[in-house]
Amino acid sequence: MSELAYPYEAPASQALFDRAAAVTPGGVNSPVRAFGAVGGTPRFMVSGDGPYLTDADGREYVDLVCSWGPMILGHAHPEVIAAVQEAVGRGTSFGTPAEGEVALAEAMVERVAPLEQVRLVSSGTEATMSAIRLARGFTRRTKVIKFAGCYHGHVDSLLASAGSGVATFALPDTPGVTGAQASDTIVLPYNDLDAVRAAFAAHPGEIACVITEAAPGNMGVVTPLPGFNQGLKDACAADGALFISDEVMTGFRTSKAGWYGVEGVVPDLMTFGKVMGGGFPAAAFGGRADVMAHLAPAGPVYQAGTLSGNPVATAAGLAQLRLLDDAAYAKVDAVSAEIQALITEALSKEGVAHTVQTASNMFSVFFTDGPVRDYADAKAQESFRFTAFFHAMLAGGVYLPPSSFESWFVSTAHDERAVQRIADALPAAARAAAEAAA
Ligand code: PLP
Repeated sequence: MSELAYPYEAPASQALFDRAAAVTPGGVNSPVRAFGAVGGTPRFMVSGDGPYLTDADGREYVDLVCSWGPMILGHAHPEVIAAVQEAVGRGTSFGTPAEGEVALAEAMVERVAPLEQVRLVSSGTEATMSAIRLARGFTRRTKVIKFAGCYHGHVDSLLASAGSGVATFALPDTPGVTGAQASDTIVLPYNDLDAVRAAFAAHPGEIACVITEAAPGNMGVVTPLPGFNQGLKDACAADGALFISDEVMTGFRTSKAGWYGVEGVVPDLMTFGKVMGGGFPAAAFGGRADVMAHLAPAGPVYQAGTLSGNPVATAAGLAQLRLLDDAAYAKVDAVSAEIQALITEALSKEGVAHTVQTASNMFSVFFTDGPVRDYADAKAQESFRFTAFFHAMLAGGVYLPPSSFESWFVSTAHDERAVQRIADALPAAARAAAEAAA
C-alpha cells in the first residue's frame, strides 16, 4: 500500500471537524474521537463494510476499533441489516413491552449462566449506574470499591480515579462531580487483592459492592491475574457486599458467555453493552434473581427508560447474538492472534520495547517491556512511540484506537486481504515508533 494512496491530509474530514467544532464542544460527541491524545485530524467516517471504514475523503481503512467493540461481525453485516430493516418497518419505538426485548433477554440469559434476570437499558453508563444503585439499595450500604484504570462509563461516582497506594478516598477527577459523590468511592490498584482485603477491614459492613471490568480494556488490556476475580468475589461474600462484573466490553466478545465464559467466576451482578446491541444503543444489567427482585416495579429501587428495550436495537442485538456461534468466536480469536503476531514481529525487528496483552481476542500493544499489571504500569509506557505508530498506520490505511490506553478489536470480517493490509502497513509504523522522540 503506497503512501500516495493514503496521504496524511484529510481535507474533507478537517472541514467537517471545523463545522462540528462550531456547534459541538471539541467537535465530537465522545472525547476520545477528537484525536486529542495523538493529534491530527479525526477521520469522519461515511460508511463501513466488513472490516473496512471509508472516510469523508474517500479513503478506506482496515478498522481495528470496531466501534469500540460492538461490531464483532464487521460493519453492515447483511443479516443484521436485514433484521434492522424488518424491525424498523414495523415502527421505531412503542413505549410498551414488545416481544423483541424478551427474546434478547432470553438469548442473554441462555448464554450467561449467572444471569438469572436482566433489565435492558440504552448505554453501558446507564447499566453500571443502575447496577450500583441496585447494589446500594439491596445492601443498604453506600461505599463502592473500584479500580484505578477501570472505566465504567461516565457515572459520577465511578469517574473517581486513583490516588496512589492502598485504599484512598478519591477526589473527584472531573469538575461537576461533587466531593460527596466521590467520597463514597474507594479506588484501589488493579490486581491487588491485599488492598481489597485492607479496604474491607477498614470499612466492615459499609461496602455495598466491588465493581471491576471483567477483564480491563480501558487502560489498554490488563489481564486479571489468576485468582484475582475469584478473590474479589470471596472478599465480597465474606462481608455481605455484592460483586459486580462489568462485561460491557468483554460480554459476548471474549467468548459466547463473555469473560465469565473464560474464567467461570460467578458475580452477583453483571453489566453489558456493545456487542449485545449490534451497533445500536442497547445495554443491560442483571444477575441474581433475588437481587434483581429489588428493582421497580417488582421492588423499591427505581430505574426506567423511554427507549429501554427499543425494538430496532433489540432486533439488531438479537440478530448479532444468533450469528455468534462457536465458529465465529474461533474465527475472531484466530485473526486476533494472527494480527498480534504480525505486530510483535514488526516491532521486534525494529528493536522497539513493547508487550502485547490479551483478554481472549481483545488485545492492546503497550510500548514498554511489561508486564502491565495495573494502571501505574500502563502509564509508564512510552506513549510517544504509540503516537508515531498510530499515524504511520493511519497513513498506511489502518485505523487504530487513537490512544495507547485502549483495547484493539477485530471481527469475523477481518479476512486475508484486511490482514495483508495491516502487514503491509506495519514495517513503516514500527520504524516510526523506533525513531520517535519523547
Ligand atoms: N463499562 C465498560 C467496561 C466500558 O468499556 C464502557 C465503555 O466503553 C462503559 C462501561 C460505558 O459504556 P457506554 O459508552 O455505552 O456508556
